[in-house]
Amino acid sequence: MASEVLISPLVRDRLVELAGCSVDGLERAGFLFGRVSERGFEITDAFIADKDRRTGSVVVCDGLAKAIEANLGPSQSILGTWHTHPTAAARPSEADLKAFETYRGLRGHARSVNFILSPGGAGPSWASPTISAWITRAAS
Ligand SMILES: [Zn+2]
Repeated sequence: MASEVLISPLVRDRLVELAGCSVDGLERAGFLFGRVSERGFEITDAFIADKDRRTGSVVVCDGLAKAIEANLGPSQSILGTWHTHPTAAARPSEADLKAFETYRGLRGHARSVNFILSPGGAGPSWASPTISAWITRAAS
């Protein structure tokens, strides 16, 4: 099964802006919206769960996610999550992997896509973060 992750420059810029809230050194997190196609995932929007303070886990914010989803177009849904790693590499921790899987299961999706963003380039810069996509799927 193909797993392309498509994101428009506009949505990428929005995600980079949201992730930039982590310039204070705290993690931020949110949701990825879009469509699933035969080719993979098409991200059409990104939302931050809490701009002002550390979110902890997007799993606890699922009520908020459902409220947002209710206002999305019929072919769109929450595809997964994103969060920042202000000081660590853009690799998921064990806790991250569990959270990805919990959230995918909670949504009843066969697959989900999750982004981890970490500062790119030299120094603590969020202008061009590294974005890593991690796809989880139900065990077969
Ligand atoms: Zn993490």
